[in-house]
Amino acid sequence: MTEISSAPQTLTTAATGHWIGGRTVASESASRIPVENPATGEVVTEIPLAAQADVDHVVDTAKEAFSTWKTASLSKRTQILFRYRELLNARKKELAQIISREHGKVFSDALGEVQRGLEVVEFACGIPHQLKGSLTINASTDVDVHSARHPLGPVAIITPFNFPAMVPMWFTPIAVASGNTVVIKPSEKDPSAVNWQAELWQEAGLPDGVVNVLHGDKVAVDGLLNHPDIQAVSFVGSTPVAKYVYETGTKAGKRVQALGGAKNHMMVLPDADLERAADSAVSAGYGSAGERCMAISVVVAVGDIADQLVEKIAERTRGLSLGGENPDLGPLINRGHRDKVRSYVDGAEAEGASIVVDGRSWAEADVSEAAFLGPTLLDHVTPAMKAYQDEIFGPVLSVVRAETYEQALELINTNPYGNGTAIFTRDGAAARRFEMEVSVGMVGVNVPIPVPMAYYSFGGWKNSLFGDSHAHGAEGVHFYTRGKVVTTRWGDPAESGLQLGFPQND
Ligand code: NAD
Repeated sequence: MTEISSAPQTLTTAATGHWIGGRTVASESASRIPVENPATGEVVTEIPLAAQADVDHVVDTAKEAFSTWKTASLSKRTQILFRYRELLNARKKELAQIISREHGKVFSDALGEVQRGLEVVEFACGIPHQLKGSLTINASTDVDVHSARHPLGPVAIITPFNFPAMVPMWFTPIAVASGNTVVIKPSEKDPSAVNWQAELWQEAGLPDGVVNVLHGDKVAVDGLLNHPDIQAVSFVGSTPVAKYVYETGTKAGKRVQALGGAKNHMMVLPDADLERAADSAVSAGYGSAGERCMAISVVVAVGDIADQLVEKIAERTRGLSLGGENPDLGPLINRGHRDKVRSYVDGAEAEGASIVVDGRSWAEADVSEAAFLGPTLLDHVTPAMKAYQDEIFGPVLSVVRAETYEQALELINTNPYGNGTAIFTRDGAAARRFEMEVSVGMVGVNVPIPVPMAYYSFGGWKNSLFGDSHAHGAEGVHFYTRGKVVTTRWGDPAESGLQLGFPQND
């Protein structure tokens, strides 16, 4: 079933206020902004933009909740997590409809997003195993040593528009399972998915104040980054803002992981299965209208297969549908972004790229209203072009031609981003060489979107991540906890005596 942004009659949840202490709370600020359905331009809800007083209120609430949540037993926490998992699984279509309505992605894609978030909840259900410490008996005579990981306190989670449910779920279940309380600041462009999830946490039995939602813009983000009671910040968004969040948050003494933008290359070697490579390039390039941080935006065709590969990609691209019944692509997030993406196509044309498939005319013919733009295929793109250099974040796939593997690798390794990449080949040795030599955090071999499973960690290198912790998996648990090592002696009291020298192990 594919369906764009049609909200069912039963859907009532829309973000209208902050969610603080287990209820919807009016803002201290009078400033409100509308949220639009990008497929129609219709306003579906509006949200407040937080003032500093709202930031103080939400952080105070999260701090108060932490005083009891941090001591909730692992049994209690996991019972809530399992209930949340069951509720979310049963009602995931509802959440997918909210995502489609505010983000614009097609229903099946929105459902896939929820499913990947659900996998992180399932990982968090196993938190007792993740939090197991270590014990050394008889480290010294009558002395044992054990280590344990403790929660941090209230943490902030600041998320982008392109995965309004999944990205908050990369962090929230693990932060909560580890004993922290959270303040989520979702994107103001599609905020309702996070309010819906917060209500579901309450239904699952999570105490009020453990998960809170604060709506807003830079004022809200800066307030969280500088608040002395926020202990850690997880951020996902564009590179300039990620860098700013990392620098500001760490300067304020916080632990910060800030995931940024991307420019993902797919290298196709001459021996690759070209049908499969073309299918993958089209799926990974245009899925979710290219608004994925793991989207393929550059195909690097190596050797003499370039013409054939471009033709195969073009054939498939021309067959895609947008708008109407059963679309392959939804709209972009808003008309401003659509115009920006279109300007990259104009620029590439002016700089000498070949427009093999032109999404601009497609959009004008079929769906000129709202935020639609057709898929565009550019060939003969060079690293000097703006369309190559910038993250376009739209349905624009560029083909760069390279004569050798070494040239193609050099292109990828000198790119300032390092989120995801893929190689398509039948040669195992070449694939292994690529895996070892490429400077990118997530690598696919004949897999175009190598998003790690929840029990691995997600994150890129270079300008795609600031900080040293990736999201979810073991690194996620580590990020939301800090270690304590305890040394214990229960010897015979009769053996006690003064010893002013530095303790020696015996
Ligand atoms: P964005 O950087 O504009 O916004 C992200 C968050 O930061 C939002 O909550 C927003 O309100 C806030 N924000 C925006 N400008 C700010 C400012 N000047 N000061 C403080 N806060 C600010 O990103 P977006 O447009 O919502 O999302 C798309 C971007 O996110 C793309 O670059 C994409 O690659 C990236 N992304 C990265 C990953 C990853 O895992 N690396 C995943 C998803 C998206």
